[in-house]
Amino acid sequence: MMCGLFGAFSAKKRNILEDVYLGLYALQHRGQESAGVAWTNDEGRISSTKGSGLVHLALDQESLAGIETSCAIGHVRYATTGASNDLTNAHPLTASTSKTSLAVAHNGNLTNAEGIKHFLEGRGAIFHSTTDTEVILHLMAHQRHKPPLDALIDSLTKLRGAYSLVMIVGDELVAARDPWGFRPLVLGRRDDVYYASSESCALDLVGATALREVQPGEVVIIGKRGMDSIPIPMTVRRRYECSFEYVYFARPDSVLSGRSVYEVRKTLGRKLARSAPCPMAHIATGMPDSGTIAAYGFAEASGMPYEQTIVRNRYVGRTFIEPTQRVRELGVRIKLNPITEVIRGKNIAVVDDSIVRGTTSQRVISMIKDCGASQVHLRISSPPVRFPCYYGIDTPSRAELAAARMNVKKLEQKIGADSLAFISEEDLIESIGLPSEQICTACFSGQYMEGGEDNGPEL
Ligand code: AMP
Ligand code: SF4
Repeated sequence: MMCGLFGAFSAKKRNILEDVYLGLYALQHRGQESAGVAWTNDEGRISSTKGSGLVHLALDQESLAGIETSCAIGHVRYATTGASNDLTNAHPLTASTSKTSLAVAHNGNLTNAEGIKHFLEGRGAIFHSTTDTEVILHLMAHQRHKPPLDALIDSLTKLRGAYSLVMIVGDELVAARDPWGFRPLVLGRRDDVYYASSESCALDLVGATALREVQPGEVVIIGKRGMDSIPIPMTVRRRYECSFEYVYFARPDSVLSGRSVYEVRKTLGRKLARSAPCPMAHIATGMPDSGTIAAYGFAEASGMPYEQTIVRNRYVGRTFIEPTQRVRELGVRIKLNPITEVIRGKNIAVVDDSIVRGTTSQRVISMIKDCGASQVHLRISSPPVRFPCYYGIDTPSRAELAAARMNVKKLEQKIGADSLAFISEEDLIESIGLPSEQICTACFSGQYMEGGEDNGPEL
């Protein structure tokens, strides 16, 4: 499941729930299906509230800002597993055992959740939701003889696939990241308040300084005695930090693994201009908003002007407009409108970040051509997406992936481009600037985590 996580801890009770609300607001791009928060209440137990849709609709800022607590977490959800319109699947999930109270918010997808669920159900566990995250709570409950943190760490060794977690365990904030490092998780601090966040852009909003990332395979515990770190006792062959976070998912004002997402996107555009130049183009333009930054890099390295050719209606939500016949016919026009005066008679290099089903590019190219563009050349700042993601990004099955069904030439014809080119995997890795054995490129290369799709260890 693709999601945004935010947590806060203060040794003194404060209104840190407002920080969590703001943090989630800054992470809205990571999930729009639902939002939820959980916090330690005055009785030392956990309270929570969740709602559907965008943060400001799902949660009541005013009432949250009026609550004082020392530990709080929050989550925005973009469902990939579990039914999306069902609030029982909204995070944080909460539970209490005889020893402690727990709340958990999860970003990523576990690849062995079904196997674990089957095992636990065989031993009498009853699952309330269809999210894979619930297995973490059940694994912990299964070891109720152990102190909660020991039970957590032991449970994490059973998991395969992607998990970045923020949790409340008793009265402490816990942030954990799988040993492969699929999803980001960063720590921050403002005075004596500590934060954990999916991306650094949310730390900026609450006025916190980024301290460091939670390391792959690390569990960080933040409590009254300060910050503590415990490694998950597992050795893995290599890391799999998600390259698609840089290409599309993360916000450009975030820093992941020390790399500015903005800079990586611009470098992708520059490299694309070198590997797939477009000398016949008069102008370069970006698909709003996903291709804009790569298009700046492309224009700069090509020595051609960057122009905005399409305006996006910023207020188009996901479900605000009734899908009547008229609206269906308008299609992409509801969201995007071309600027005829810039487009007419020109050869245009359009840069976008990715092609998934191929529908967006097909519609936009035909829209630009209808406005009188002479030629439209499409440049994509990621390699062709040919394989589904099992680690939390919502990609469709192979059958629906345009680049899995046809080669680049066929795809070029289908979407109606005068030329089409993608960046290479090598250029993608070089632009990110991390060693290749640290980065996941499975949706481009098909090279999934070794042993990642097995059922994990003996339970
Ligand atoms: P498509 O029409 O399916 O080819 O969609 C491609 C567009 O969707 C690109 O412009 C991307 O910016 C955007 N995109 C890529 N991956 C995702 C995703 N997992 N969820 C939502 N949008 C995406
Ligand atoms: Fe990211 Fe693709 Fe790997 Fe999924 S398969 S984690 S989207 S790089």
